[in-house]
Amino acid sequence: MDRIIRGIIKYHHHTRLGMVEQFKRVRDNPAPKAVFFTCMDSRMIPTRFTETNVGDMFVVRNAGNLIPHSQHFVNEAFTTEPAALELGCIVNDIKHVIVCGHSDCKAMNLLHSLQDEEYASVDNRRKSPLRAWLCRHADTSLEKFQQLKSTNFTEPLTFQAETPMRKFVAYIDPDNKFSIEDKLSQINCLQQIQNVASYGFLKRRLETHDLHLHALWFDIYTGDVYYFSRQRKRFVEINDLTARPILKEIRRYYS
Ligand SMILES: [Zn+2]
Repeated sequence: MDRIIRGIIKYHHHTRLGMVEQFKRVRDNPAPKAVFFTCMDSRMIPTRFTETNVGDMFVVRNAGNLIPHSQHFVNEAFTTEPAALELGCIVNDIKHVIVCGHSDCKAMNLLHSLQDEEYASVDNRRKSPLRAWLCRHADTSLEKFQQLKSTNFTEPLTFQAETPMRKFVAYIDPDNKFSIEDKLSQINCLQQIQNVASYGFLKRRLETHDLHLHALWFDIYTGDVYYFSRQRKRFVEINDLTARPILKEIRRYYS
């Protein structure tokens, strides 16, 4: 707690007043831009690598940046993630949902080891809420990963996007730059788009192009941020050269 209390004192002296000014500015005209789902990993600080500020994003974090599929819930109730989608997209009329995965994700590393049946046994799941969470809500990511593995990581995967008719194709790590667990992390990130779209209360907005779904991926070791380009069918590093084409694609696909 030393680190936290000392940090609060520092904030109190240096940052607090500026933040209060920002709170005042957004109070009467709140216009959050995105609901941002990411991992709870301590290295993931999404407001820092997106340079966003007070009032910009609703951030939801959990182990492995998962959004459970609606089929797991009767009446779509009883979990944080759909409630956050409703608060963001319906109550606050936010038009973009972003799912952001990352490299060396401990949850994804664990998910990868859950391919071992013993490791994923019911007994082990009872003892570990984390294993249970991953087995229940990331099983489809693992299935897609195994599908890709069976083709030696060469064939593309297909994911459903905003509507069942709107699918996109993805080549996962075609340059073979990342570890096997990182490939799983990228698949998992894209699978969550499909899960977001499973909620009935978002259906109309998704069908009328009032709500758009995006995937980002953060490389912890280089600090590079990738955007999943449906046009290029892969994660593309966001930099000075690619930013303009990425924005053009976003405008074309999502306006
Ligand atoms: Zn993680």
